[in-house]
Amino acid sequence: MKFVIWDPGQTKSSELQSECNEAAWLQKGRSLKEKEARLHQLISKLSSMYPQHTEFLKYLHRSDGDESVPTIYVITPTYWRPVQEAELTRLSHTFQLVPKLHWIVIEDSNTTTKLVGDLLRRSLLTYTRLHVATPQAYKLPANPKLSWVHPRGVLQRNLGLQWLRTNLDAEKQKGVVYFADDDNTYDQALFEEMRSTKTVSVWPVGLVGGLLVEGPLVEGGKVVSWNSVWKRHRPFPIDMAGFAINLRLLLNHPNVAFKLKAEIGYQESLLLKEIVTISELEPRADNCSKVLVWHTRTEAPKLDQENNGSYIFQPNLPCFKKWSVREGVEVGIVQINSVTVSFVFLPVL
Ligand code: UDP
Ligand code: MN
Repeated sequence: MKFVIWDPGQTKSSELQSECNEAAWLQKGRSLKEKEARLHQLISKLSSMYPQHTEFLKYLHRSDGDESVPTIYVITPTYWRPVQEAELTRLSHTFQLVPKLHWIVIEDSNTTTKLVGDLLRRSLLTYTRLHVATPQAYKLPANPKLSWVHPRGVLQRNLGLQWLRTNLDAEKQKGVVYFADDDNTYDQALFEEMRSTKTVSVWPVGLVGGLLVEGPLVEGGKVVSWNSVWKRHRPFPIDMAGFAINLRLLLNHPNVAFKLKAEIGYQESLLLKEIVTISELEPRADNCSKVLVWHTRTEAPKLDQENNGSYIFQPNLPCFKKWSVREGVEVGIVQINSVTVSFVFLPVL
C-alpha cells in the first residue's frame, strides 16, 4: 500500500511526521479491514490539517488500498537528450494524480542514469527502473529527414513486457498495461477510462497521423471503422497512445512483443492483431468522442550559445559541483547526466 502525503508548506511538519509513523503502522501485517479503518481516520485528520487538499486525499484513498481495483502498469521508454528531464517531470506530475499506477521506465542506455533515478525517487510514485540500449544500427540517423526509418523504443517496451511476465501473476493481480511515450500529453482522466479494460480498450489520439484527431469510429458501442488517413489500411490504424491492454490477456500470450524490423506505423497493428479482433475492442472516452491524450512532440531546443566562445560558464548553475586546484590550475567540475566533466578557464589572448 502506498501512502502519499502532500506537504506544500513547512508548517505542521512535526504533526506530519507522526502521520508518517502511522503510515509505517499501516504496513505492518494488519488485516485489510483494519488498514482501511485506520487509513480513513488518518485521511480525516489530514483533511482537517490541510483543508485545501481534502479532495485530493479522498481521491487517493478511494482505491489505493482496495485490491479489487486494477493497477495500471505504464511502460515508458526514454533516452537522454536535453529535454529528457523536462519531459519526465511533466509525466511524473500527471501520474501523481492517478491512484494505483505503477510506472515502468526503461532507459535506452547501457546503464541506468542518475537523472532518471533521482526523478523517480522524488516522484513518490510506485516505479520500476530498467535499461536496455538500442543497437547502433537501429538508432535514429542524424539527418532529421530520415527520422522515420526506424521504430523507436521497441526493445525498451519489450523489456517492460518481460518484466510484467516475470514479476506478475495474472491469477493474483488485476491490471491494465499502457504504453506511454515520454513526450506525449496525458489527461489524468484517461487512466480511469482504461482501468476497467477487459480485452483492449481504445480511444482517439490528438495531433497524430497528419490529423487533429485520429481514432476509432463507434456505432452501437462497437468500433466499426477508423478516422484515419495515414497508412489507413493498417489492420489497426491506431497510435501507441490510443489503446490499453488487460494484463491477463498479455500474460496469456507470452510471446507477443514489438518488432525491431516492423514497417513504420505497423508496430501497434502487428501486436494487436495477435491478441484481439476489432469486434472485441472496448471503446472508451464517451464512445471515442473525447480526446484525452495528444501525440505532442517537443521541438529540440536551440543550444548553439552553449558552444559560443564568448559565453562565460556560470558556476551557480545546478549542474556545477565544485572548484578544485590541480597542479596549480583551478579546475571546475560539472556533472551532466551522470557524466562528470572538468573544465578550466584559459586566458583570452
Ligand atoms: N525513444 C528511445 N530511444 C530513442 C528514441 C526514442 O527510447 O533512440 C523513446 C522516446 O523517449 C519515446 C518513445 O521512444 O518515449 C517514442 O519515441 P519518439 O517520441 O521520438 O517517437 P515519435 O513521437 O516520433 O513516435
Ligand atoms: Mn513522441
